[in-house]
Amino acid sequence: MPLFQRLRQRFRSASAPLHPRDPQLPSEKLDAAAAELAGEYAATSTRRPKGLWRLRWWRSWRSGWYILVPVVAMVLFACSMALILWTLHQTEIQQQRDSLYRDAAWAQQKVRLSLLSNQDQLASLARDIAAAQLDQNAYRVTAQEILREHPEIVFINWLDAGRRTRWALPSTSEFASRMRETPDEPVDPDIAVTFETARETQRVVYSRPLLNARGESFMLLLVPIVRDNDFLGTLSAVYSINGILTHLMPAELTERYKFSLIDKNNILRASTSRRPAPNPSLSYEVLLDPPGHSLSLRADAYPPRSNLPNTMMAWLVGGLSCFVLWSLWSVWRHTRQRAEAQRALLEETSFRRAMENSMLIGLRALDLSGRITYVNPAFCRMTGWSEAELVGRSPPFPYWPPNRDAEMQQRIDDTLAGKAPPTGYEMRVMRRNGTSFYARMYVSPLVDGRGVHTGWMSSMTDITEPKRAREELAAAHERFTTVLESLDSAVSVVAPVTGELLFANRYYQQLFGNGAEGHLALEDTDPEQNTGDVTDYVDAFAGLPASELTTFSTDAREVYMPDMQKWFEVRRRYIQWVDGHLAQMQIATDITSRRMAEDMARQHEERLQFTSRLTTMGEMASSLAHELNQPLAAISNYCMGAVARLRSGRSSPEDLIPVLEKTATQAVRAGTIIQRIRGFVKRSQPQRRETILRDIVEDAVGLAEIEASRRKVTLVTRLPAGNTILFVDPVLIEQVLVNLLKNAVEAMGMLQGFRATGVVRLHAQEADSELGRVVMIDVIDQGPGVDEATKERLFEPFFSTKSDGMGMGLNICRSIIESHQGRLWVENNADGVGCTFKIMLPLTPVLHDQ
Ligand code: ADP
Repeated sequence: MPLFQRLRQRFRSASAPLHPRDPQLPSEKLDAAAAELAGEYAATSTRRPKGLWRLRWWRSWRSGWYILVPVVAMVLFACSMALILWTLHQTEIQQQRDSLYRDAAWAQQKVRLSLLSNQDQLASLARDIAAAQLDQNAYRVTAQEILREHPEIVFINWLDAGRRTRWALPSTSEFASRMRETPDEPVDPDIAVTFETARETQRVVYSRPLLNARGESFMLLLVPIVRDNDFLGTLSAVYSINGILTHLMPAELTERYKFSLIDKNNILRASTSRRPAPNPSLSYEVLLDPPGHSLSLRADAYPPRSNLPNTMMAWLVGGLSCFVLWSLWSVWRHTRQRAEAQRALLEETSFRRAMENSMLIGLRALDLSGRITYVNPAFCRMTGWSEAELVGRSPPFPYWPPNRDAEMQQRIDDTLAGKAPPTGYEMRVMRRNGTSFYARMYVSPLVDGRGVHTGWMSSMTDITEPKRAREELAAAHERFTTVLESLDSAVSVVAPVTGELLFANRYYQQLFGNGAEGHLALEDTDPEQNTGDVTDYVDAFAGLPASELTTFSTDAREVYMPDMQKWFEVRRRYIQWVDGHLAQMQIATDITSRRMAEDMARQHEERLQFTSRLTTMGEMASSLAHELNQPLAAISNYCMGAVARLRSGRSSPEDLIPVLEKTATQAVRAGTIIQRIRGFVKRSQPQRRETILRDIVEDAVGLAEIEASRRKVTLVTRLPAGNTILFVDPVLIEQVLVNLLKNAVEAMGMLQGFRATGVVRLHAQEADSELGRVVMIDVIDQGPGVDEATKERLFEPFFSTKSDGMGMGLNICRSIIESHQGRLWVENNADGVGCTFKIMLPLTPVLHDQ
């Protein structure tokens, strides 16, 4: 398991609540751990360091010296061991060197003594020869004996004073010929020099080393034979230098040393072994001379055979050193791990402390008996009770609301039995100062690092504000629902893609049930376009981003549902539904009663207009009768005249034709009047159509003229050139014009006494106005005009200054013009005589509901 996890586990077990047998509180444990580590980690403290702590190396040394101790110990130990081993080695070498000196001296002595002994034997033989005590054969026998006893001597001869050989042993030796001088081959100069030296000094002389054909070194010993100071020759002995080493050197020494003989020129002449010298430092050289010609003996020590105790000792020391080093390294590593663990623990502790202090959620731990073992600072802050006052307490707890102990105890029992609801529970918590708040508590089992269930952990959140917000939200929602449910409008939301009804208020459900069919049926007024396919919505707005769709709303439409015989005003728009998808909301308001009222009003209006027209006709009845009477009287007169002429018999057809034509003209005139009256009072459904202005004006003027002529008022019309086409109901516009002309004529009639005749003008012209392209129709009279005070009152219903007037004419005229999106008003004429009623009618057809 990684170190950090192990540490975390240990930390958890340390921070676990109080164990029944553990008297120390977890927070105290943590405090103790923190205090223990605090000194070591003072460098990490946020406090400003003082004194030596300012120095970085001092801080790191103080905080890490114990890690270095094992390292220092390891180094010291390794150095000590190396020193001991080196000392042992030096001692051993010194011992070897001492024994080398000793043994070399011994060997030197041995060789010298042997050579001197040989020298003595040969000197003795030389003296015998000089004394001439024996014959030659006896000398030879003695010499042979010497050769046998001293194998290092390879040749002996007797040379007389003239260096002639008297005898030689063995006679076959190479030296026998080398020492014999022949004319062809002179003797070796070294031998000659040595001989001459022996002659001159009459003492024993050793020659310089001689070499044979195989490169072996030899040494010549000449012992002079002197009788009474006469030099009689020499007794010569040839030593094999190699033989000296082989035969004179003690065998026990040659095993341990390599002996060599070296001449004074430092040339190696012989060696006991061909093995190279193993150690130049263990070499010793001693001079043999005398005897010999400046020969030196050199001894090179072979490495000693295994010294078991020493070797074992060295191995033991080495092994123990390795073990000690390993153990020190283990200690160092362990110490370092421990330091890391401590540092991590300290960090974790600090983090936990910081977390506890900054946490807004209150935490409380209970042991298995229901006793508080831990509270965090947030819990104390929320309740107002300190940690010391809470920890260790058993129920009832001081923050329980008054008179609710039984209920609270039940909750604690449930908690301890593990029956606390997973969604937590709400409770009122009393603060120490007597105020209270609402909290939600969640409970979970507390399991320590060893997996033992040690208690219960509760988290407490202050939900006063969320609760209040929730209650307000619920109240708002209830209000909203109440309003929505009690609306007389059917509110529905449909998902365009699936056609699913997402929301419907009660009114919708009453009308259409729980399906989306009602929503779709209200979707379009045009049944052919309304396929009832919900994907139509999407297709209709394909490509538009949702943000645009949601800001898009349709105008209100009035939809008639034949099945229900109801009218609905339908508004709809796209909204972002709660799940983020696009949805279509539709509000259908039942406007059946309004539509019925409007129908009634319209019918009433129509009746009123019709009545008004009848009234107008009634008022003009005498004039009309008079007007009709004239053609009828004329027709009657013409007919009577024609009859009289026919009876008298003086008439010819030619005379009668003009009469009959006049009669017909009068009949047409009467017919036209009747036709206009019929057209005026004809009861028909109001209907707009394209109508030529001139036709309307002619009909209106035709009717009004009858009354005007009775009152001796002339009507003058001025119309725009060409045909001005209006999209109006011609009967209603004619009614307006007749009304205005009749009023004008009547107003003129009031002033009959002052003027002989009067003129009423009807001027029409096209113009541009705030309504766009319009036709202006002015009815200009020369009557008394209108008071500024009563100017607007003229258009009120039942306002009349006439004794027989109803006062409805102008009111109906204005409503007719306004229903054609026009204006009607009155202005006094600029010259101060009479007034002008002005009509403004848009030329552009405005399609509108009737
Ligand atoms: P009525 O003709 O039955 O009185 P109207 O609504 O047609 O009802 O007229 C209302 C009143 O407006 C009239 O009584 C009259 O006083 C006044 N009036 C109408 N036309 C004129 C006019 N051309 N000049 C002066 N006063 C007028």
